[in-house]
Amino acid sequence: MILNHRDYRADSHFDAEVVVVGTGAGGAAIGAMLAELGVDVLFVEEGGHHPTSSFNPYLAESMPRLWRDAGTSVILGRSTFLYAEGRCVGGSTVINGAMTYRAPEEVLQSWHAQVRDDSLGPAAMESWFERAEQDISAKLHRDIAVGGDNRIMALGAERAGWHHEKNRRNHIDCVGSNNCILGCVTGAKQSTLVSYMPRALGAGARCLTEVRARRLLIERGRCVGVEGRVVDPRTLKPTGRIRVRAQAVVLACGAVQTPHLLLQHRVARRSGQLGRNFVTHPNVKVLAIYPHEIGGWRGLSQWGQVRQFHEEGIILAENMGPSGAVAAALPFHGRAIWQRMKHYNNMVLSGVLVEDSNTGRIYRGPFDTAVPVYSITQADLRQFLRATRLLCGMHFDMGAERVILPFTRLHELTSADQIALIDESRIKISDLELFTPHLMGSVRLGGDERDSVVNPDHEVWDLPGCYVSDASVFPTAIGVNPQVTIMAMALRAGERLAARVLARRRAA
Ligand SMILES: Cc1cc2nc3c(=O)[nH]c(=O)nc-3n(C[C@H](O)[C@H](O)[C@H](O)COP(=O)(O)OP(=O)(O)OC[C@H]3O[C@@H](n4cnc5c(N)ncnc54)[C@H](O)[C@@H]3O)c2cc1C
Ligand code: SF4
Repeated sequence: MILNHRDYRADSHFDAEVVVVGTGAGGAAIGAMLAELGVDVLFVEEGGHHPTSSFNPYLAESMPRLWRDAGTSVILGRSTFLYAEGRCVGGSTVINGAMTYRAPEEVLQSWHAQVRDDSLGPAAMESWFERAEQDISAKLHRDIAVGGDNRIMALGAERAGWHHEKNRRNHIDCVGSNNCILGCVTGAKQSTLVSYMPRALGAGARCLTEVRARRLLIERGRCVGVEGRVVDPRTLKPTGRIRVRAQAVVLACGAVQTPHLLLQHRVARRSGQLGRNFVTHPNVKVLAIYPHEIGGWRGLSQWGQVRQFHEEGIILAENMGPSGAVAAALPFHGRAIWQRMKHYNNMVLSGVLVEDSNTGRIYRGPFDTAVPVYSITQADLRQFLRATRLLCGMHFDMGAERVILPFTRLHELTSADQIALIDESRIKISDLELFTPHLMGSVRLGGDERDSVVNPDHEVWDLPGCYVSDASVFPTAIGVNPQVTIMAMALRAGERLAARVLARRRAA
């Protein structure tokens, strides 16, 4: 059962054994696990339910429906930058690129050492990763779905002597229509909209959409539910209030909204870590225009990644998007944009992902707004400049005519001789046009309540009944695309929570 704003009374009340707030990677996975083990689950989701048949390549229509703030959400800091988050049933998995990378072994080992819980160690997590990957059909691609832009990246890497790795993506028969960030038009991408959510609903879960959770219900020190506001998606006006009472509340609103929700209460603060340790894997885009047709839009985004520099914290990848998204990201105006976009067919959009060397913080602003603050460091800037130089060199070597850069003071290069202009003496942190789709770590999990917010069962240390299952629980950044790690952790947490709820039911 999926309800929307038209289905509620001005003041509606619901009961469930577990209420899960959010239906993205963490929420849908834990909700499906709970529901399939027999728990009565009710989801509360701020966004709407948009089926595959509603997806299209039109930016102006799709972004307000599927992206938080229509894609204009910002992180404040030395270089204010955009972040991307889904706001719909399926959350960010509906708009993501479908890469499925596990947290590297050394990251899991460091978490194991920090948390001191064997069930979070690399060996114990193996089966959860396998299960998540199976649930969302993580696999390599058939060549038919691969466009010319990805082939240029692979060839360019080979020519430069760099290690290029093909990505596993979560899909069933992806045809390479390159619309992933505006919703998969064929239903091939196994976002939680078409994987975990149908399973949860099929097992009896209910889903209240167009409801923004605003407060936890806390009674005698225990979390017993949530209260939310119904929002009409067309007018964005509140049309009612929802109260859900449950034995357990799972917050899965993502690494910005989950701490935002918790921060208004006097809980989860003993360690002083709530909202801190926020990490972002910042990205920049490097757009090459070639003198011949590439047809990048006819193939999937991110067939592979250049992993040559991964140990140094740098990943290079192709990252083509729908034409509206590419045009919106150009650092030009009017005719100058048209002059570049005429060559959309000849473009290879590539990008640089740099591993965090800093952490940020989520604050609660006025009017129910979350305020993320994060700054890259001078060392990160050097990484970005180096990686951009490498990409430019590769594109010119492969025959590109011009490369459009992610710097406010240096927009474009037209020959390899100009690469030396990409230099720390000319480009400052505030000149970088950063972007991030990977938000993590603001409600970190740990084995000691003095330095973490949730315990190894994902329960807030000082708020029994309140659990967190999303990217916010990561103890550190993971340096790779996070969705599978979030899902694997959610499945583990779901099995544990189901055992508690079912034991309580039997005892009642
Ligand atoms: C453009 C883009 C590309 C990406 N590409 C990849 C990729 O290729 N591979 C990869 O591994 N990862 C990728 N990611 C990242 C990945 O999708 C996210 O890390 C992951 O989905 C986060 O899971 P989550 O459960 O933390 O939050 P989300 O998936 O963001 O889900 C949070 C949900 O909570 C809801 N919500 C928030 N606040 C409230 C509230 N107060 N009340 C009710 N509901 C609320 C939101 O509407 C949303 O549905 C990408 C992300 C984006 C945006
Ligand atoms: S490339 Fe097209 S078919 Fe493949 S997952 Fe993305 S939107 Fe779906």
